[in-house]
Amino acid sequence: MKKFKLGLLALMSVGLLAACSAQPQKEGKSEEDQKVQVVATNSILADMVKQVGKEHVSVHSIVPVGTDPHEYEPLPEDIEKSTDADIIFYNGLNLETGGNGWFVKLMETAHKEEDKDYFVTSKQVKPMYLTSKGQETEQDPHAWLDIQNGMKYVENIQEVLIKKDPEHKASYESNGAAYLKQLESLDKKAKQDFSEIPENKRLLVTSEGAFKYFSKAYNVKAAYIWEINTESQGTPDQMSQIIDKVKASDVNSLFVETSVDPRSMESVSKETGIPIYDKIYTDSIDKKGKPGDSYYKMLKWNIQTIHDGLLGK
Ligand SMILES: [Zn+2]
Repeated sequence: MKKFKLGLLALMSVGLLAACSAQPQKEGKSEEDQKVQVVATNSILADMVKQVGKEHVSVHSIVPVGTDPHEYEPLPEDIEKSTDADIIFYNGLNLETGGNGWFVKLMETAHKEEDKDYFVTSKQVKPMYLTSKGQETEQDPHAWLDIQNGMKYVENIQEVLIKKDPEHKASYESNGAAYLKQLESLDKKAKQDFSEIPENKRLLVTSEGAFKYFSKAYNVKAAYIWEINTESQGTPDQMSQIIDKVKASDVNSLFVETSVDPRSMESVSKETGIPIYDKIYTDSIDKKGKPGDSYYKMLKWNIQTIHDGLLGK
C-alpha cells in the first residue's frame, strides 16, 4: 500500500515537476503514516506502547503474538519497518541481545542508533541471572513477570514517546498514569492472593524457568524443566530432575506456557500423576479476543490461574 502510494507520488511529481518539491510526500501520507511509527521487539512491549500512545502511535511487533522471542530471524518486513520507524523499543536483559543476537544485527541493517532511534525498556530493572550454566553470568530477560518491573518499562516508554513527540505530551502523561495505576493495583492483588496459599503448595512448575522475577516479587517458588527457551524439549537429565522435584513436593497442579511445546510437560504429568492445570503466559500476549490479549490481561490471567491451580480448585 505504501509502495503504491510512493509510486503514485513519483508519478505526480513528474507531472508537477519542481513545483511541489517542498516535502511532496507529506500530502500523500495516510492517517496511519502520520502517527509516530513505533517498532517493538515483541507483543508485550508493543501492547505497552499502544496503552500509552493510543491514537498517536502506529505499532509493529517484530516477534508475532504467540511466538517465542528468544530466537528469531527478522523478516524483510521487520527490516523495512525498523528502517522507517521513529522509535524502536526492545526488552534487553539478554532477550533479543543474547543467543544469536538478532536484534543487534537488525539495528545495524536498519542503520539505527541506541538511545537515539532505539531504546531499552528494562533500563531501571535490577537484573537477575540465569543459573543453568553453573555460573551467574547471563541476565534473565523475564523481568516483566514482576509487575513492578513492567511499570518501569511503561515509564520508560512514556518518557521516550514524550521526548520524540512532545506535541502529545499531555496525552502520553494521562494515558501512562491511568495504565500505571491499573498495574499497581493488580500487583497489590497478586501479592495478597499468593500470600493466601499454604507454603507447601506454593510451587509453580513450568517448562521454562521464566519465573525468577515473579518468584521473588510474589513469594512463590518456581521449578522448571529447562531454564530458558533457547531449548524446547527437556533432556533426559532435566526430565528426571523435575519429576523427582514434583514427586517430592505437595503441588496440586503443573502449568504449561502458551509459547512452548507442551510435550515435555505432558510427560512430567504422566510420570507424576499431577495434572496440567492450564496454560499461562510468559513470553507473549495472546491473540485478540483471547483472555490474555494484553499485558495487563495476561498477568491477570496468570495470577488467577496460578492461584487457583496451586490451591487445587
Ligand atoms: Zn522466555
